[in-house]
Amino acid sequence: MALIRAVRGMKDILPPESERWQWVETTAREVFRLYGYRELRLPLLERTELFARSIGTDTDIVAKEMYTFIDRHGDSVTLRPEATAQVVRAFLENRLEKGAGVKKYFLMGPMFRYERPQKGRYRQFYQINCEALGSDAPELDAEVILMLWEILGRLKLSNLRLLVNSLGCPECQEDFKAKLKLFLFSREGWCPDCLRRREVNPLRVLDCKSQTCRELLKTAPVLKDSLCEACSRHYSRVLTLLEQFGIDFEEQPRLVRGLDYYTRTAFEVTAAALGAQDAVAGGGRYNGLIRELGGPDLPGFGFAIGEDRLLEVLPEAEGRSADQSVFLAALGRSALERCLTLVQELRGAGLAAEMDFDGRSLKAQMSLADRLGARWVAILGDRELAAGEIVVRDMKSGSQESIRIMELKSALKNLAAAEEGN
Ligand code: ATP
Ligand code: MG
Repeated sequence: MALIRAVRGMKDILPPESERWQWVETTAREVFRLYGYRELRLPLLERTELFARSIGTDTDIVAKEMYTFIDRHGDSVTLRPEATAQVVRAFLENRLEKGAGVKKYFLMGPMFRYERPQKGRYRQFYQINCEALGSDAPELDAEVILMLWEILGRLKLSNLRLLVNSLGCPECQEDFKAKLKLFLFSREGWCPDCLRRREVNPLRVLDCKSQTCRELLKTAPVLKDSLCEACSRHYSRVLTLLEQFGIDFEEQPRLVRGLDYYTRTAFEVTAAALGAQDAVAGGGRYNGLIRELGGPDLPGFGFAIGEDRLLEVLPEAEGRSADQSVFLAALGRSALERCLTLVQELRGAGLAAEMDFDGRSLKAQMSLADRLGARWVAILGDRELAAGEIVVRDMKSGSQESIRIMELKSALKNLAAAEEGN
């Protein structure tokens, strides 16, 4: 029969790669803990109107990338394409806005966008998100970027660029849009999408991926020249703090973001090694979003790390767990019985241990242990069993010695500890 394949643009993450993903997530969790961020676990499915209302109808996401369908009840639902809107939805629905202080959350999981699958672009991809709700202080912007930097640093990622811009407040944006519109109508050669965007949502043109549009945009007006006094001060303070934190950044005056709700600070982290889809993370401030979704007038700041792309630039050696597992090779019925309890004892002592139940030959069990990546193999035959002994083989060096069965657990623990110390 023909095999059934995965849906286009969706991939399986298998061991040992999945272990690197775990390591990335564990590292991020640890940094989030240090900064006071706590986990939200939210549904993959939301009402379509949540995204339509928040992300902006003329964005790539809402215009052409959403996985939207009608459920059996006739409601329009969408697989989440991004996290911020649903974090705000959950925040308001669960009355989390109550009480003083910045509310800090992180979230990890799959996002869905119906894009053309290619390197760095999948239809189900994974993000690590962070959202801080309730403060407009530039110190928060800088601290969140610092936290992101700490995560990326612990993951030993280098050759990253941090691009920063300010999108101003709605007033600055009005002024800028007018100037930008004049510019857009004074030039020819825009792609069909941008011809439409320059009428309805000129800011979106700045996010166009087409090469000709990008070329034309090189002389476009920049947001910085439209910033009001307060936005300008906010922006300089963020940049000063980033400098104080020792984070290298570049001002990128035409950086917008793919979503409509950004205000003031916007940033992106890129890795040249990724090629065309080079953004590993992006984020910024969204001061109008919470009110837009029916809540109080509270500001917010956040970022999303694209985990798939991050894994693509993660150094090969990072996140691979040093294998310290033990394989018990039992030869004969009584040895198998004894190994059944031994394997449990080893696990009870915190050692990863496995055995074979199928009565294979020693040779077959050794090659199985090898395939499983066992660090040590303990071999128990009838003769050893009668003598109360077991043979421990070091799979790296190939050396082996016979020890008392009673001492197996402590001997292996010592070996594992000695290796860990190296
Ligand atoms: P891009 O410019 O690459 O389309 P975006 O602006 O659409 O990115 P965001 O919505 O800011 O992306 O999402 C944050 C991060 O999620 C991106 O920087 C990227 O690393 C990752 N990402 C976005 N879309 C995809 C996708 N289809 N496949 C894999 N990763 C993605
Ligand atoms: Mg995109």
